[in-house]
Amino acid sequence: MKLIEHFIEGKNFSGDSKRTGKVFNPATGEQSAEVKLGTAKDLNYAVESAKKAFESWSNKPPIQRARIMFKFKELIEKNSDELTKTIVSEHGKVYEDAKGSLVRGLEVVEYACGIPQMLKGEFTENVGTNVDSWSTRQPLGVCAGITPFNFPAMVPMWMFPMAIACGNTFVLKPSEKDPSCSIKLAELFLEAGLPKGVFNVVNGDKESVDAIIKNKDVLAVSFVGSTPIAKYIYENCAKNEKRVQALGGAKNHCVVMPDCDLEQAVNGLMGAAYGSAGERCMAQSVAVAVGNVGDDLVKNLAKKVEALKIGPGMDKKSEMGPLVTKEHLEKVKSYVDLGVKEGAKLIVDGRKFKLQGYENGHYLGGCLFDHVKKDMRIYKEEIFGPVLSVVRVKNFDEALQLVNDHEFGNGVSIFTRDGDSARTFSNKAKIGMVGINIPIPVPVAFHSFGGWKRSLFGDQHMHGPEGVRFYTKLKTMTSRWPSGLRSDPEFTMPTMK
Ligand code: NAD
Repeated sequence: MKLIEHFIEGKNFSGDSKRTGKVFNPATGEQSAEVKLGTAKDLNYAVESAKKAFESWSNKPPIQRARIMFKFKELIEKNSDELTKTIVSEHGKVYEDAKGSLVRGLEVVEYACGIPQMLKGEFTENVGTNVDSWSTRQPLGVCAGITPFNFPAMVPMWMFPMAIACGNTFVLKPSEKDPSCSIKLAELFLEAGLPKGVFNVVNGDKESVDAIIKNKDVLAVSFVGSTPIAKYIYENCAKNEKRVQALGGAKNHCVVMPDCDLEQAVNGLMGAAYGSAGERCMAQSVAVAVGNVGDDLVKNLAKKVEALKIGPGMDKKSEMGPLVTKEHLEKVKSYVDLGVKEGAKLIVDGRKFKLQGYENGHYLGGCLFDHVKKDMRIYKEEIFGPVLSVVRVKNFDEALQLVNDHEFGNGVSIFTRDGDSARTFSNKAKIGMVGINIPIPVPVAFHSFGGWKRSLFGDQHMHGPEGVRFYTKLKTMTSRWPSGLRSDPEFTMPTMK
């Protein structure tokens, strides 16, 4: 059985732990590897290595850091097929979707190639007579990232390229369900010329996460995962005086207005609800049918959900792959059972789906509920599977209220041809990322990614300009040279004259 170790100080590291986790191929249900579950000692060793590397890495001129980023970008492109297949084999999503997610991660590396421009700072000549002032952003030190299973390449790549380009060193604790991508990325970064110790990967679970929280040399933590863990990370990192951004779960709504192009809305919803088997934090799991659009919407959706091509991620014909683990499959199924019990109308039932030759794969057919009500648990809670709930409302105001009352605030979209509805909606929605006739409004790398409400604890979103702010601290200098103004002691608060 393949054993996945840690990657510390520029090489594979077996570590201290006797504990391992199981990694599965979701398409077949077979175990494909064992992964080491790191101890506090392993984690502390990685932090020590990163701390040692910080001094010289942070002193490297940004242009030299950028050159390594350019090389890293080339190597990711060269190895894109292998990385994509790794995502498919451990996560289960279909090949083209996995490739797309890798490209979205690569965009952050491309953005990070421009780091010299972003770290230029600001300068004001003569803030007072013969006094100049400038500000600069300096790296923090050792930063850490803790990432979820659903984007094994993209989400880590929201974090470490930005942190490292800014001059920090980094310790990544990827999801133990699909850890191989992170190790491959660390190897490629080393090949690109990154000094050893700048980027380390520690595999593990709660034990290594808690060691990150406790380690005093880790100065900033980026987390992406479910809301209860995000809250735990946020509270405990803050208690330990760390900078923290913790992104949590979601329940993204798609508001379908009666005046919209219905075919566009239905196609948009199909991809957003069932793509990646619904295991996306920007998946749309609630369709809000406004006015009289409900019957047509449900009829059109049902036909397409029934026709979904479900199969292994490597099969070119598959539109939707399996769920990540057997446990997750059972959890999603139990939500479908619950929806039926709660009185929602199950229009398409995917629970009995079986694929010949892949009987042990973690497959679930697409599920579609109609007449879902806002007090039902299937509406309130994140299911994270191929289950779409249709909620019917009378008008635009009711739709907006529904969106704003939900505890999560990651993404939302509206399908309409009316500019007034679209503008009012984007202005009033209490949500971090809004799409207008765009089903999955994931911001590109040079904007920033993040939700509101209980979808993000912290102040800064991920990557883009917010990423630079998160991974640097601001320093402002004020200077005067004595050859200019000669002055007597001043005992009052200085004001710029
Ligand atoms: P998860 O919260 O179970 O795990 C995330 C990370 O936390 C993993 O590295 C895991 O090892 C670690 N972890 C798990 N339990 C822990 C514990 N008790 N103590 C300390 N660490 C722990 O999430 P997941 O199932 O891997 O990913 C799916 C979730 O991630 C969904 O809720 C999804 O919405 C969310 N997500 C959010 C975003 C976003 O941008 N907001 C993006 C992707 C995924």
